[in-house]
Formats: sequence, C-alpha cells, structure tokens
Amino acid sequence: MKKILVGTHNNGKFKEIAYLLPKKYKKISPLELKIKSPKETGNSFKSNAKLKVKFFSKFVDYAVISDDSGLCIKALNNSPGIFSARLAKKHGSFYRAMKFILKNLKNKKNRSATFVCSLSYKSEKGKITTVQGNLKGEISMKIKGNKGFGYDPIFIPKGKAITFGEMSKFKKLKMDHRFLAYKKLIKKVKI
Ligand code: IMP
Repeated sequence: MKKILVGTHNNGKFKEIAYLLPKKYKKISPLELKIKSPKETGNSFKSNAKLKVKFFSKFVDYAVISDDSGLCIKALNNSPGIFSARLAKKHGSFYRAMKFILKNLKNKKNRSATFVCSLSYKSEKGKITTVQGNLKGEISMKIKGNKGFGYDPIFIPKGKAITFGEMSKFKKLKMDHRFLAYKKLIKKVKI
C-alpha cells in the first residue's frame, strides 16, 4: 500500500486530512515515526505550511502533506491568525483562549471571522504545491458544542446557525477551510 505522511501533531487536523485523502494511501503520522514538529518561523499560513512539508519530507521517501491553519478575527486585527495554536498554549487551553476572544469581542459589533488553511503537498518526486482555503463566518456569543477541536465551538460558518462545535464531523469535513484547500489542491495535482 502507498504511504503518505500527514505532517501534523494535531489529532483533529490529522483525522480531517486523512479523511480527505484517497483510500489507496496508508496515512502515517509523525508520532508513529517519533518526529517532532518544526518551529513555525514563517510569517504567513503559506510559508508555515511549506516549511512543515519541507521539514517532514526529510524523514521519508514518500509523499507528504502538511497544513498551517488558524482563525482570523476581523475586529481583532485578524488575530490570532498564524498564532492560533500559540494563543491556546499561552492561555493554557482552547477553552480559556476562546473565553479570552469572547471577552475581547464583547463591545464589538463586527464578529466576522475567517478560518484559513494552507495545505502544502510534496509529491514522491519532490514537487511542492501549496494552496489556501478560506471559510468565512462569525464568532458566536457563547462557547457552544463539544464536537470538533480547537476553536470549533465559537465559529459559525456563513449561512449556518450553529457552531462547528455543534455540527456533525462529516458535515464540517465537507465544508471547512481544509476541505476548500484540498479541493484546490486536487485541481492542481494528481494525488
Ligand atoms: P497550527 O496550524 O499547527 O499552527 O495550528 C492551527 C491552530 O488553529 C490550532 O490551534 C488549531 O486547533 C486551530 N484550528 C485550525 N483549524 C481548525 C479547525 O478546523 N477547527 C478548530 N480549530 C482549528
């Protein structure tokens, strides 16, 4: 069976990316290979996704896919953005980071936000392709739902009335920023 390294230590992301990829692949996690994540030194989602794919591909001779993603909130100058994981780390948990975000949005009229995902794919032959998917929505008034991961319980995708935290994982999988990025990727390369 062909292998592909899904370059992320985030279990929520791993599951989503593994689900999107063709069944013909055995999806390998960096945890299985005891590889740590690289430092995210890039200043954009795209540069971080590329940096991760380049890093992980040093350890294997098959294809690698990595993502860099996060939540950009308009009224907070598009933060936490590429610092989404680091904000949760700083506050000790996603729950606390979400509380912090809700507090900061308390007096703001505009609650629009975008979930962004850059996906970078390195083929077995070594060609790197990077794409980005953006999903618009808004930040809920409260933390709602216990499905999904990360910031899912405060993000209401455009046109829906519930947060990703309240949505079934299959529904989310077929509409989120990772899905939009993946659709772009498979238009550019055969995976
Ligand atoms: P990074 O790409 O490893 O820097 O982490 C991205 C951060 O954004 C993580 O903290 C994720 O939990 C969060 N994030 C990315 N995608 C999603 C999502 O689909 N739902 C909820 N949180 C997400």
